[in-house]
Amino acid sequence: MRYISEMDIRGKKVLCRFDFNVPLDENLTITDDRRIKEALPTINHALDEKAKVIIISHLGRPKGREVDKLSLKPVARRLERLLEKEIIMARDCIGDEVRNLIETMNPGSVLLLENLRFHPEETANDEEFARQLAALADIYVDDAFGNAHRSHASNVGITRFVKESCAGFLMKKELNYFSKAMEEPSRPLVAIVGGSKVSDKLRILMNLVKKVDKMIIGGGMAFTFLKAMGHEVGKSLVDEQLLDEAYDIIEAAKKSKVKLYLPVDCIIAERMDNNAETKAVPVQEINPNWLGLDIGPASIKLFEEVLRNARTIVWNGPMGVFEMDKFSRGTFAMARIVASSHALSMVGGGDTDVAIHRTGESDNISFISTGGGAFLQLTEGKALPAIEALN
Ligand code: AMP
Repeated sequence: MRYISEMDIRGKKVLCRFDFNVPLDENLTITDDRRIKEALPTINHALDEKAKVIIISHLGRPKGREVDKLSLKPVARRLERLLEKEIIMARDCIGDEVRNLIETMNPGSVLLLENLRFHPEETANDEEFARQLAALADIYVDDAFGNAHRSHASNVGITRFVKESCAGFLMKKELNYFSKAMEEPSRPLVAIVGGSKVSDKLRILMNLVKKVDKMIIGGGMAFTFLKAMGHEVGKSLVDEQLLDEAYDIIEAAKKSKVKLYLPVDCIIAERMDNNAETKAVPVQEINPNWLGLDIGPASIKLFEEVLRNARTIVWNGPMGVFEMDKFSRGTFAMARIVASSHALSMVGGGDTDVAIHRTGESDNISFISTGGGAFLQLTEGKALPAIEALN
């Protein structure tokens, strides 16, 4: 795979695919612009080379229709501010207007094309659509790590038709950090896995068991494991169909001499509600009519001890229902522990990213991935279609 820094892009039409799928509030204000900021090194490099910088991205799920609320206009405004430069915005991502704008734009300027997913052909990886996108460029740069687990026209199909393809600086950073954390880690390597969906994360856990020295399981998924070990977990979230698999993971960890840590206590409540009465209890004492919604103080201490000598930490998934104050302490405490560690720390995007932002510790994590699904797919040990296409 080649990177943009190795290509001769001077004065050329450079089509850059970014993942500008950023969260917007009801006033269409961007509430987290990290994905845009992470794209700046690639854009600035292309501008320094006096390229015509043509940007494509998706935003949200318009399902193949033009949806005003999912226009990339707010992204254009934020980019303008970050680059301190005018951004030309097209009304579509293909067609005559786009071709004219590209012909007339000055080298060293930026054109942002409208949301790719306004066309159903994008997610269908349609060949003709990919051909039309490819025809806009001399060189295609994929820097959309957050979308790399998808096989779409703008990241996979296009590579078959465009003259030259390469990856951008964010893609490079994501893959380098991943490799430092998971492929050639300084040991001990400790994984922290939380969140609610055991089904989504089973294969990840199976793959992690082969690579890590220690594994901490928290969040809603911990209860499936606790139940598999014979504990009464009350009304806590349990995936009954996956009890055997959970047991297999516990056994696989034993066999590989991976130390597996589950919560020893938890915060329980009668219902998932910020106003509900709560108690901190050992996991052996969960009331049959209550449910566990966060890890307890003893678990936080235990996990802190487990992380103390870690040289590498990989984390995905919150330790509790951190969206509600009453059940957020475990996740926030873990964020502070990981942030204060001297280990190389890599955090998967999505919820974990949001939780860390709330603690104000983002700058103290070595790297927070911009990809949720893409990060998880790599952690599962599976190749990413967009990377394979670039290869
Ligand atoms: P995931 O998408 O699998 O990473 O799960 C993230 C979600 O898990 C968050 O929205 C949390 O609120 C939720 N979660 C974490 N701990 C629990 C728990 N003990 N019970 C129910 N949901 C939980």
